[in-house]
Amino acid sequence: MRIAFIGLGNMGGPMASNLARAGYELALFDLDANKVDAVRATGAAAGNQAISSGATAAEAATGVDVVFTSLPNPKIIEAVGLSEQGILAALPKGAVWIDLSTNNLECERRILAAATSKEIAFLDAPVTGGVEGAAAGTLMVMVGGDPQVFARCKPVLEKIGNRVMHLGPHGAGYVAKISQVVLCYLNSVALSEALMLGVKGGVAPETMLGIIQDSTGASYVANRYGPAILDGSYDPGFALGLAHKDMALTLELAGSVGAELPMCEQVEAVYKKAVDKYGFDQNHLMAVKLLEEQNGTFLRST
Ligand code: NAD
Repeated sequence: MRIAFIGLGNMGGPMASNLARAGYELALFDLDANKVDAVRATGAAAGNQAISSGATAAEAATGVDVVFTSLPNPKIIEAVGLSEQGILAALPKGAVWIDLSTNNLECERRILAAATSKEIAFLDAPVTGGVEGAAAGTLMVMVGGDPQVFARCKPVLEKIGNRVMHLGPHGAGYVAKISQVVLCYLNSVALSEALMLGVKGGVAPETMLGIIQDSTGASYVANRYGPAILDGSYDPGFALGLAHKDMALTLELAGSVGAELPMCEQVEAVYKKAVDKYGFDQNHLMAVKLLEEQNGTFLRST
């Protein structure tokens, strides 16, 4: 199976590296050449000589059986996939495009229409598990699309995740991913408010976090993100702008399925304000800094 991998960032880089280590023939593309070099180096260290790169996404995708994309947002995914020099124009009939990005249903419908007209199969296969799961190959992969295409692609998906699930028709993966990821942001904001309340009341930040981690507030967010708030790093594994994108996708999805989600509306506004104030590329937990500034108290270990 010849594979192309487009988008080698925090998630795509380690996922592509796992495919390189597994020995697949791999063609890479990212706008940032350093990210291509990093994956190539990992493959070379593992003895994989069959790794190349394209000057464009289309060049990388030419003649492959499967192309993976792990890209920031629907606009970029469409530009990379559907433009005249996009990957669909380069893929041979019978190939499969697997999008690992967090994406929306409108984009999915446009991809599907274009792919079907070229006799190319498409799976939405967004992931969860963070950069550490991407590095360890332990992601959860939530797949929507034709079950036979899924069955064909499952072995390669199992190189990037250890929970690879077929959830239903096209779009089911994107829906599950957005519905799951929303808790990341609601929890992050809730965690910061609980910490702020305790700290303002005189409890030491690390004591308060320990209590939350060991009680009804226990969660991945408290365990993984709590320390990154208290050390002031705000977690570099994920960009603030991508966090806001996820919240915007949540509201879009809510609109299209007729769900009213008042808490999500408030949290989307928090992330939007944080992106406007601190910038798209900052770490996602910078959203907590808004609350810290508002309270004149920084949640730092003593
Ligand atoms: P990232 O910003 O680290 O990586 C995106 C990569 O895409 C970058 O290397 C960038 O150079 C490249 N890129 C941008 N435009 C391009 C183009 N036109 N052509 C080729 N390459 C291009 O983002 P990430 O954190 O790796 O996230 C990727 C996707 O995975 C997003 O949809 C995100 O929502 C989703 N996701 C991220 C996480 C996480 O914890 N980081 C977890 C689950 C899902």
